[in-house]
Amino acid sequence: LPTSPARTRFAPSPTGYLHLGSLRTALYNYLLAKRTGGQFILRIEDTDQKRTVPDAESRLLQDLRWAGLKWDEGPEVGGPYGPYKQSERSALYHDHAHKLLDSGHAYRCFCSTERLKALAEQRHRMGIATDYDRTCASIPKEESDDRASKGQSHVVRLKIPEQHPTYQDLVHGVFTPLKRHGHVTETAYEDPILLKSDGLPTYHLANVVDDHHMKITHVIRGSEWMPSTPNHLVMYNAFGWTPPEFAHVGLLVDEQGSKLSKRNFDTDITAFKEMEIFPETLTNFAALLGWSHWRKSDVMDLKTLIHNFALKFTKGNSTVTFGKLHFLQ
Ligand code: GLU
Repeated sequence: LPTSPARTRFAPSPTGYLHLGSLRTALYNYLLAKRTGGQFILRIEDTDQKRTVPDAESRLLQDLRWAGLKWDEGPEVGGPYGPYKQSERSALYHDHAHKLLDSGHAYRCFCSTERLKALAEQRHRMGIATDYDRTCASIPKEESDDRASKGQSHVVRLKIPEQHPTYQDLVHGVFTPLKRHGHVTETAYEDPILLKSDGLPTYHLANVVDDHHMKITHVIRGSEWMPSTPNHLVMYNAFGWTPPEFAHVGLLVDEQGSKLSKRNFDTDITAFKEMEIFPETLTNFAALLGWSHWRKSDVMDLKTLIHNFALKFTKGNSTVTFGKLHFLQ
C-alpha cells in the first residue's frame, strides 16, 4: 500500500454506458483511495464531442451511485458534487498547450487532412512505421506564430524525443519499446496531436493536465492505455511535473476474446440492475475479476473490500509485493 493517502480518479468518456469492465476500473480506484484514507475523483472526459452519447453521462452517474462508489469532490451542483467535466475546462488545456509551444516541446502543424492522408498511405507503402514526416516541426517559431495569427488552420503536436520514456507499471513491470505486454505491443511513436484545429484538446493533453492539477497519485486504468503512457510521460517531463504511479489492469474479454466494450450491451450495468442483482453482489463479483484476497472468504461487501484491498504486481516471473492485490496478466 502507498504510505500516504492515494488520490485516484475514474475518468470515463461518455461515449457509452458503464459496463462490467469500467465498473471494475472505477471500483479499484475507489478501493485504493478509501483503503488509504485518500480521495476518489470522478472526471468526465468529454473532449470528443462527436462520439458523445447524449444520456451516457447521466447514466454513468446513476450507475456509480447505485454501486455505492461515491466520489469525493467536484463542482457543487445544487447540493451534491457534480463530476469534473473536461468540456468546462478548455481554457486550462489551451494555456498548457501554449506553454509547450513556448518551451519548444510542441509545434503547430499546418498540414491539410488531404496531405496527411496521402502521406500516411505513401509511408505505409514504403514500410515506414509512422504516418507523419514531421515537416512542420522545422517551421521557425516566428513563422509559426505569424501563420497562426493570420488564422491559418492548424493543430498542435507534441514533439516526441528520440529517447522515448520507459516506465515502471505497477502491474506489468517495466514498459519498454517493442516488448509485448499481455496483448499490447508498443508501436512506433508519432508526434501526437494535443490541440485539434477547433482549439479543443485531445484526450492526451486533457488527461495529463487534469491528473497533474487534480494531484492524482495513482492512475489505475485499462491496459489499452499502456502504449499512450510514454507520450504522457513526455508531457510530464516537459512541464517539469512528477508523474503519478500507473497500474494498467488486464481487460475483461468475452468468450471470443474480444474486449468488453461500452457497445457490448449485455454487460452494461443496466442489464444487471434489470436482473435485480444487488449492487454489493456486483461490486463483489467485479472486484474478484483480477484480484483476490488469500486469507479471507470471497464474499465481501464494499466495506470489507475497502478493508482488504491493496496492490500487488508481477514482474517477469517473480511476484513483487506492493500489497496484497494480484492482477491477472
Ligand atoms: N477517458 C478514458 C476512457 O474512457 C480514460 C482513460 C484513463 O483513465 O486515463 O477510457
